[in-house]
Amino acid sequence: MEFKDSAADAVFRSEVRAFIEAELPAPLRVIAPEWGTFNTRRGRGMDSEAGNEWRQKLAARHWLAPHWPKEYGGAGLDIGRQFIFNEEMALHRAPGVGGIGVGWAGPTIMAYGNDEQKGRFLPNIVSGNETWCQGFSEPGSGSDLASLQTRAIRDGDEYVVNGQKIWTSGAHHSQWMILLARTDPEAPKHKGISYFLLDMKTPGIQLQPLINMLGDYSFNQVYFDNVRIPRANLLGEEHRGWYIGATTLDFERSSIAASTSMALIVRDLAAWVRESGRPLSRVRARAELPPGRRAARRGSTTTSLRLVRRNG
Ligand SMILES: Cc1cc2nc3c(=O)[nH]c(=O)nc-3n(C[C@H](O)[C@H](O)[C@H](O)COP(=O)(O)OP(=O)(O)OC[C@H]3O[C@@H](n4cnc5c(N)ncnc54)[C@H](O)[C@@H]3O)c2cc1C
Repeated sequence: MEFKDSAADAVFRSEVRAFIEAELPAPLRVIAPEWGTFNTRRGRGMDSEAGNEWRQKLAARHWLAPHWPKEYGGAGLDIGRQFIFNEEMALHRAPGVGGIGVGWAGPTIMAYGNDEQKGRFLPNIVSGNETWCQGFSEPGSGSDLASLQTRAIRDGDEYVVNGQKIWTSGAHHSQWMILLARTDPEAPKHKGISYFLLDMKTPGIQLQPLINMLGDYSFNQVYFDNVRIPRANLLGEEHRGWYIGATTLDFERSSIAASTSMALIVRDLAAWVRESGRPLSRVRARAELPPGRRAARRGSTTTSLRLVRRNG
């Protein structure tokens, strides 16, 4: 197999490179080896005004969803071109775009959604107008996801949801959530789950931030108190959500686009250790954090302790 760019691929690579160099908004540019270089969040800065600008510029080129079929507004790139696109984005340290909506909620809707759902949701994902989060994990249901306890009880044309999710990345700036909830508690655990498309503005949803050890706010706990979801937002068949969720997780696990940016982080880290002469253990301590970030980190420790106590 030949891994070199063909002549046509090289032209495409130059096109992507020129676009990023001209259009990536200044606040999103990262000059190595700044402290932020070690930040593994590919979506860094995407919840800012500059992030919105970048999202819209990519969407205008159909590059917000380079892998989506053209019929749904994607660029329809083949695997080789997707790799080139992702590689150039990573090499320029351009923040990853699309996230859960483009990466796996949208493709799951393509696979299981009815025409109404495809028409309502896909154009808003591919244009960058609506972003998504993923309500799967629960405090007692991580690896054993099928044991999830959040309940959705049918009430006429609606479902009423009660329960809790955890590790919900980006819930605080997402308009929609893909949600797994138990609709039949009597059935074997894999057969009583349904898959919902939930509007995050629905009354009864409460977020509690989870701040990570770097002081970043990217996760949440999400609480549902009698949250009503229209039946029209059930994806696929009732009680078959486990199997639809498995499709979502297949799409999620195929997200290997981060490989180049991860390789860059390791390279930067090695350079930092070599140049600073500091032991690797100091990286974890984040001695290089600017003062504002250190303060955020102290605050997060308090938050975490409170949560630990609360969860018993
Ligand atoms: C960066 C990041 C972002 C995430 N974002 C989201 C999100 O947006 N939405 C969402 O729903 N979830 C999200 N998650 C959660 C994630 O997808 C997993 O559900 C969760 O991390 C695994 O569950 P847990 O943390 O409860 O670990 P556990 O299930 O408690 O597992 C802890 C450890 O025990 C091991 N283990 C578990 N069961 C067994 C067993 N039977 N035998 C042997 N070993 C076992 C596991 O391999 C692991 O090492 C995110 C996680 C990360 C790290």
